[in-house]
Amino acid sequence: MSYRALYRVFRPQTFSEVRGQDHISTTLKNAIVTERLAHAYLFCGPRGTGKTSSAKILAKAVNCLDLQNGEPCNQCASCKAINEESFLDVLEIDAASNRGIDEIRDLRDKVRFAPSQGKRKVYIIDEVHMLTNEAFNALLKTLEEPPAHVLFILATTEPQKIPLTILSRCQRFDFRKINTAEIGNHLADIVQEEGVSISEDALNAIARKAAGGMRDAISVLDQCIAFAGDRIELEHVEMVLGTVSEEATASLVDTVIQKDYSRMFLSLNDFIQQGKDIKQILRDCIQYCRQLLLLKVAPKEQLVELSPDSIGKAREQASALPVEFLGRMINRLTAAEKDLRYSNQPQILLEAAFVDLMIQGLEPAVSQPVQTAAGKPAKTSPADVEKPETRPVQKLIASEELLQQWSEVMAQIKGKSIKLHAFLNDVKPASFKNGELILRFGLQYKFHHNMVNQEENLRLISQVVSQLTGQPVKVTVELENEDGYIKQELTLVDEARKLFGDVPIEIV
Ligand SMILES: [Zn+2]
Repeated sequence: MSYRALYRVFRPQTFSEVRGQDHISTTLKNAIVTERLAHAYLFCGPRGTGKTSSAKILAKAVNCLDLQNGEPCNQCASCKAINEESFLDVLEIDAASNRGIDEIRDLRDKVRFAPSQGKRKVYIIDEVHMLTNEAFNALLKTLEEPPAHVLFILATTEPQKIPLTILSRCQRFDFRKINTAEIGNHLADIVQEEGVSISEDALNAIARKAAGGMRDAISVLDQCIAFAGDRIELEHVEMVLGTVSEEATASLVDTVIQKDYSRMFLSLNDFIQQGKDIKQILRDCIQYCRQLLLLKVAPKEQLVELSPDSIGKAREQASALPVEFLGRMINRLTAAEKDLRYSNQPQILLEAAFVDLMIQGLEPAVSQPVQTAAGKPAKTSPADVEKPETRPVQKLIASEELLQQWSEVMAQIKGKSIKLHAFLNDVKPASFKNGELILRFGLQYKFHHNMVNQEENLRLISQVVSQLTGQPVKVTVELENEDGYIKQELTLVDEARKLFGDVPIEIV
């Protein structure tokens, strides 16, 4: 028998086998039992969360000759034919492959004909957001007056790209990311059935890495079996995924805490020598820092996802690191990850990010009583480092110093939007008084002015400055005009009020 990918073998065949989407399965089963199905459904959600599987189960259910409480029987001629993909009335269109124009035209021509084999014609359009405008228009015509025997199931990872006219004619279901424990349980069932043994930490590593997508998790398991045979250990998973182990990441974080530049460079070099991808290194470090942050701020919640072997060390690091530093670390590494695509020197970018963090050290970014001696966190008692978090307001930059510390504002903006950063490069902040920041552009920077003066950009500047100064900030952008006067264009006072109100802003 030819090889079949595991995720195909273990594809759910009934609604109750679809993991983590009970809210959707129950609603659909009820609709089938009470015969209140809509004519068109939109299944949205991240990849690998069960959208296409659910679409096929629904297609079987509406054609099944022996329905079982809203579930397809998987035994009748219709169910079998749909499972074998030989059923004439279930048509799958992959909008990603050719943008769908011919198929949608064909659909429009044939949709009126009664089903030839089953009870209902079902059109499953995968990645529907990829359709061309013409294809969307053709689809819309049939959605406006759908023949009674037709059911449309549109699936997408990006619902925001679908025209409103289409959205408004569909009943929408949002598929959730599947939680790690649920993925782990399913993987455990699969390995048992396949006669494969896998260590618990290896299984958990796969489940965590899948980030909510069951299909990805099963595919990785499949690759691990191909690579390691029927005994899978954590190091096999790390090899297959190209990830950096938690232990190695923890020791890298140690070098940052201790400001040990040479060990930091050596560790990064080791990772690269082992063939790890730089993007992956950054992602693993970001993920690890997020775990440290969670350990610090929400240790009792079920959010922390670290292997039992790593958790002791991680707790130690979390208690030695201020929240603010962890936040900065995540931001800085995320910015480096974003910058990777513009760089042909990725290793330098990676190293520079760590050097930046180490230069700044653990102390907060402004002059205030220093909680930890830089580079010697081990000597700091946990009680000391807790102090900054318990203060209701943490002013990082005093208002009167904002203009002198403008580079800090720019650095933060760069981390959030490289474009906005570029538009702001040639502007000097004119004043910052009573929570109002005025930015002035010379005539020659009219274009920059217009770009900055867009709502989302104003809001971003307002957010950054608000967070840095701990107060609601209104941003005003002014452009010099021909008479040399400054013309006021637009303010963001209402936006800022809406966002922040009059309450003090806490830095998180
Ligand atoms: Zn059936």
